[in-house]
Amino acid sequence: MVGVRIDLHVHSTASDGTDTPDALVAAAAAAGLDVVALTDHDTTAGWDLASAALPPGLRLVPGAELSCVSPDGRGGQATVHLLAYLFDPDSPAVVAEQTRLRLERRERLRRMAERMAADGFPVDADELMAALPTGATAGRPHLARALVAAGVVSSVDEAFARYLGTGGPYYLGRTDTPVHTAIDMIAEAGGVTVLAHPFARTRGPVVTPEVVVELAGRGLAGLEVDHPDQDAPTRAELRALATDLDLIITGSSDYHGTNKTVRLGQETTAPEAFERLLDRAGADRVVTG
Ligand code: AMP
Ligand code: FE
Ligand code: FE
Ligand code: ZN
Repeated sequence: MVGVRIDLHVHSTASDGTDTPDALVAAAAAAGLDVVALTDHDTTAGWDLASAALPPGLRLVPGAELSCVSPDGRGGQATVHLLAYLFDPDSPAVVAEQTRLRLERRERLRRMAERMAADGFPVDADELMAALPTGATAGRPHLARALVAAGVVSSVDEAFARYLGTGGPYYLGRTDTPVHTAIDMIAEAGGVTVLAHPFARTRGPVVTPEVVVELAGRGLAGLEVDHPDQDAPTRAELRALATDLDLIITGSSDYHGTNKTVRLGQETTAPEAFERLLDRAGADRVVTG
């Protein structure tokens, strides 16, 4: 697999990306990728469309990014994202938890929009919710785009910085999945888990290295080291931790279409690391175009 380009974390309109799953796999091939993982937040809804549209030569790793809550290692709690790959999408536990969380995400986004409308912002909660693709996982980027469209802010980033960011004036929390439950649930469904952007400190509080050690003991397979929201010293710190714990090191763009500025394949995973992931999970679930 020399020269193979692998991006293991991208989002479609099944969650908060702006490319439909079929357009996304076409864009991945055009970007020169050989392997792409579709990892929408808390849903597998994009898998079928992406699989059906897969261009020749491209391999699709079906996945999801699970919204989780973890002990932060300082006596409190932190939000963590868990990348889950190659699991059975019909596993009853997975279906039940994703359904619960998606419903809660919709109610939460509606309440955020209603609170802004009550304060005089030109957003309409009914319109916002009606505009979401059927079954899509609702997220703050959807409200951020509505604020851009209404001229309240000039970018999604500005919407987060002024109004929607964690701890911001219109931020509302969620009941995310306990990270231990999520790791076990995916293992039982035949999949493998990687901690997404573990030390992306600009996003909010992150867990301590001791928590990563504990999650590794629980069955976590890897750490997403090369991610746009982690700088060089942070990556070095994570690389050392992954090496110590014999965790798989991944790199990915976390592409969200025009909701972010990163390009597909901007960060990639080494072929040897990808092979290790396949060894740990259902390699037969990889879809080949
Ligand atoms: P939510 O899933 O509703 O908690 O929203 C979090 C999502 O918003 C993340 O998955 C990112 O896609 C996006 N996001 C977070 N911070 C920013 C930011 N500063 N600018 C643009 N998008 C962001
Ligand atoms: Fe996102
Ligand atoms: Fe994430
Ligand atoms: Zn992501």
